[in-house]
Amino acid sequence: MNDNQLLRYSRHILLPQIGYEGQEKLVNSHALIVGAGGLGSPVALYLAAGGVGKLTICDFDNVDLTNLQRQIIHTTASVGINKAVSAQQAIYEINPDVEVNTICGKSSEEAFEALAAEADVVIDCSDNFATRYVLNRVCVKLSKPLVSGAAINFEGQVTVFDMRSEESPCYHCLFPDLGAEEGLRCAESGVFAPLVGIIGTTQAAEAMKLLMGMGTSLQGRLLLLDVQAMEWRSIKLARDLACKVCGG
Ligand SMILES: [Zn+2]
Repeated sequence: MNDNQLLRYSRHILLPQIGYEGQEKLVNSHALIVGAGGLGSPVALYLAAGGVGKLTICDFDNVDLTNLQRQIIHTTASVGINKAVSAQQAIYEINPDVEVNTICGKSSEEAFEALAAEADVVIDCSDNFATRYVLNRVCVKLSKPLVSGAAINFEGQVTVFDMRSEESPCYHCLFPDLGAEEGLRCAESGVFAPLVGIIGTTQAAEAMKLLMGMGTSLQGRLLLLDVQAMEWRSIKLARDLACKVCGG
């Protein structure tokens, strides 16, 4: 790190749990962020501000006026621009030291596998089950930690699947793919603006902890948030030994 970086990240470095060593790990890390919407906005902003050195951001959608109520990385001026590109522009304003790769098309499972192979952590900020299942299969195959979040209406959930641990369940253990049609998507449903901020910020914290090897991750625990009651519930998760994706 150069002198400017030491100043920029000094409030991290002052934390004994992070220190110079932890910040150096962040600076040398690469995170794959899938989705630059409501969850991806705080994830990308905090990872960039906090000094994760390299980000790959995937989103095939363009910024729409209806996104701006909660997708805080985008601005009125970026309406009509690809979300990954808009996020990249915002990040360069905040922290020009961060390298941002943008993937602006739809990615196949093979493409996601190649992207995940290059990354140290994968953060699922998508809004649909198809992408969640694909990212899960890829992360199980490559043993990459996956930080999973979802939010709709006034409710959200967040957890970590870390296949480097024998005990870790995968997304499919928790939500078996029954071939049912896609559930509610934020694109068509209401969502309370700060909800995606709370869940996305939690994902950012978990991702940075994983990158530094610090603290205890959410692996094996699902946090459920009800914003109307402002109550968090923590549910223990076990691996399904008969899981079609990670079992056997
Ligand atoms: Zn599984």
